[in-house]
Amino acid sequence: MKKSPARILVVVLGLIFLAELAISRLLTFFPNLPPRTAALADGIFLTCLVLPLWFFLSYRPMLEKTEECNRERQEIARQNSFLHTVLDALPFPFYVIDAHDYRVKIINRAAGTNEAGDLTCHALSHKSTTPCEGGEHPCPMVEVKKTGKPVVLEHLHYNRQGAQRVMEVHGYPIFDESGNIVQMIESSVDITQRKVAEDALRRSEANLQNFLDNANDLIQILGLNGQFLYVNRAWQRVLGYDEAEIGSMSIHDILHKDSRKSSLGLFSSISRISQVVEHELLFVTKSGKTIVVEGSITTQMEEGTPVAVRGIFRDITKRKQLEERFLEQKNFTEKILRYSAVPIFVLNKNHEVTSWNKACEKMTGIPAEKIVGTSDHWQAFYPSKRDCLADLVLDEAYGSLPQFYEAFENSAFMEEGVRSEGWFDNIGGIKRYLAFDAVPIYNRANELVAAIETLQDISERKKMEEDLERLATTDALTGLCNRHRFNELLQQEVDRAKRYNTPLSLIMFDLDHFKKINDTYGHAVGDQVLQAVAKVIRENVRTSDWVGRWGGEEFLVLCPEATEKDVLVIAEKLRETVEKHIFETVKTITVSCGVTCFKPHDSVDAFVSRADEGLYRAKDKGRNIVEII
Ligand code: GH3
Ligand code: MG
Ligand code: MG
Repeated sequence: MKKSPARILVVVLGLIFLAELAISRLLTFFPNLPPRTAALADGIFLTCLVLPLWFFLSYRPMLEKTEECNRERQEIARQNSFLHTVLDALPFPFYVIDAHDYRVKIINRAAGTNEAGDLTCHALSHKSTTPCEGGEHPCPMVEVKKTGKPVVLEHLHYNRQGAQRVMEVHGYPIFDESGNIVQMIESSVDITQRKVAEDALRRSEANLQNFLDNANDLIQILGLNGQFLYVNRAWQRVLGYDEAEIGSMSIHDILHKDSRKSSLGLFSSISRISQVVEHELLFVTKSGKTIVVEGSITTQMEEGTPVAVRGIFRDITKRKQLEERFLEQKNFTEKILRYSAVPIFVLNKNHEVTSWNKACEKMTGIPAEKIVGTSDHWQAFYPSKRDCLADLVLDEAYGSLPQFYEAFENSAFMEEGVRSEGWFDNIGGIKRYLAFDAVPIYNRANELVAAIETLQDISERKKMEEDLERLATTDALTGLCNRHRFNELLQQEVDRAKRYNTPLSLIMFDLDHFKKINDTYGHAVGDQVLQAVAKVIRENVRTSDWVGRWGGEEFLVLCPEATEKDVLVIAEKLRETVEKHIFETVKTITVSCGVTCFKPHDSVDAFVSRADEGLYRAKDKGRNIVEII
């Protein structure tokens, strides 16, 4: 029951009435009391009764009420403490902000301060007294207050160290009964790292896009049905289609018919599994030009499922054309080489034969298939293994040339080339005189990579030259040196004798009474006698001695290194041999000899004149003798 003051008053008045009744009853027992004392006693008694009662009835509920208040207060405090504990446990900043002046009413530990109540949220987040407005980052609390709605905004805050952080701020309005915003809740998440990562990702995506767009290679991404999902600028430039056109095109639109069959199979197989395929394809540009591309095709997989087919290609049309031209050229060059009338063979750096042309086959009798790829080319020229000229050129072993060739010279075709010539006993079964040139071949890096040797069979010419030489130097009748050649030999030996101060002797022969032989047996028999005498002389001198026909029936024998004693022995031997020789038809003849030795200041003429003088004296003394001067 509620204890209202009216009820208390009724109760108190009732009690007073009852108390008066009780007092008047008591006073009947004390009839002698003066009325004033009785009234006083009545009053005191009444006061003593009513006052405690009144106090009891009036103040007890008040005390009870105070206790209840205290309990409520304690409960609120407990709840507040609980709320703060919860808020402090939150990992992100949390504020309750007064909507009137933006002062922070409640703040949690994650907000990093306990200055709630003293500062506005702007001061806390921006070290500023005014809210930041507009721009890229409008103040979230101003937005909440303005719109009356919850907001989620990115906002720049400063942390306690003054570093700027990007926060994702959640603002929430709290209304009173009249619908006015009284408070706002702000909670925020630090997304600085995420933003940095997002920026980096965006930048790298932009870089990648830029890279793809500016790559020289043709890059395309196809859907599994062959539709173009992406092509880069190089692709557009080369194929001639713009982005708008590509949107409605598929790979089938650009594949050349020669590539269609193979590549469509390729696309359908590759789009099922993740793999990289290197391929060469033919594309047709918008203008109808066929281009050759080479590149790799890969399947783009997402969670094990193919989603697209990526292709990176390089336009190799020009390279292909060059390759074809190069092959044509190579083929052409090989043909020239193969069918050249000049025998040619080529060695690579490893001394293996890479070409052995038809003319070479014909000359050597060795077919190309037997020799190409081997290092057996020497077999065509020599009985045992040795280096050929091309081998030496290939090794740049120019210092070894004298070891292998008597004579050589620079090639007429190339400075580093070498030329030599000589007789070969058996080339293709024939004795041949070959002139051969070997020249080195350098690549673009100036590295020696091959050597070419060309062969010329100049046997006929050489024989003619040798015949001419023989004719010019040999006496036709006797085969001895003629007077011209003998003069050269005389000069040569005189010079040598002078230079080295060595002995040199000369014998001059003349057939005795030869005229008679001619007259008696005829000129032909005379010739036979001359030939027979020449033979006898040749057979009875040293190999180092020179024999020549000086004229008519006169002969000379030049004996290098022979002293007076030596030459007298030789001359006497010759005279005696002729004397004893039985000649056909004429049977016997004799010779007279003039002999002389070279003196230091002799000229050739003086030297010969003394021998002639000796001969004259021998004739004069009766013939068939040796006379020395
Ligand atoms: P002598 O003993 O004094 O030397 O007397 P000779 O008869 O040998 O000398 P002469 O000079 O009188 O004669 C040389 C002869 O040799 C004259 C010439 O007809 C002959 N004669 C020279 N050359 C040839 C030749 O090539 N063939 C032949 N058959 N006879 C030749
Ligand atoms: Mg004579
Ligand atoms: Mg004579």
